[in-house]
Amino acid sequence: METNELMKKAVKFHGHTCPGVALGVLVSKYILEHGNDFSIDEELVAVVENDNCSVDAIQALLGTTFGKGNFIHLDYGKNNYTFYNRTNKKAVKLSLKSSSFGNHNLSKNERIEGLLKSKPEDIFKIREVEFNPPEKAQIHNSINCENCGDATMAIKIQEYEGKKLCIPCYEKIKKITI
Ligand SMILES: [Zn+2]
Ligand SMILES: [Zn+2]
Repeated sequence: METNELMKKAVKFHGHTCPGVALGVLVSKYILEHGNDFSIDEELVAVVENDNCSVDAIQALLGTTFGKGNFIHLDYGKNNYTFYNRTNKKAVKLSLKSSSFGNHNLSKNERIEGLLKSKPEDIFKIREVEFNPPEKAQIHNSINCENCGDATMAIKIQEYEGKKLCIPCYEKIKKITI
């Protein structure tokens, strides 16, 4: 698919046109162009290190989504994107070159256009990496929170003064008692 076609599809999902989504389009384009190594199915895992507009393009174009558990967000505030293929165990990491996104003298439209004309290789440092795969999404037992009663995944339950609590209740009760 041409970059502009990918952009259209990503913008439809994301809701507006912006440089961030263009960046995510270029990330996705690289993976789509390397279909031998990275097929677009459940075996592909994306790890993103930011939660800006770019990650919507990746969810829309590569089918790696939060709900399927093959989309992992690390809150590092970096424009790094790692993709792992569970089948052949290959992993590739794309990191934005610092010069690529920072020219704020250009208008928003000029920045979008400039990005869409670029090749992924122009704006990202791209390298194969070692990667420890996350486990596939698991079904965990649920326990009812002793404060609000919500069924909560057992591994998320916090114990406080002998009570089993969900995270928001734990944080609320801890704040009151301290
Ligand atoms: Zn946006
Ligand atoms: Zn609760």
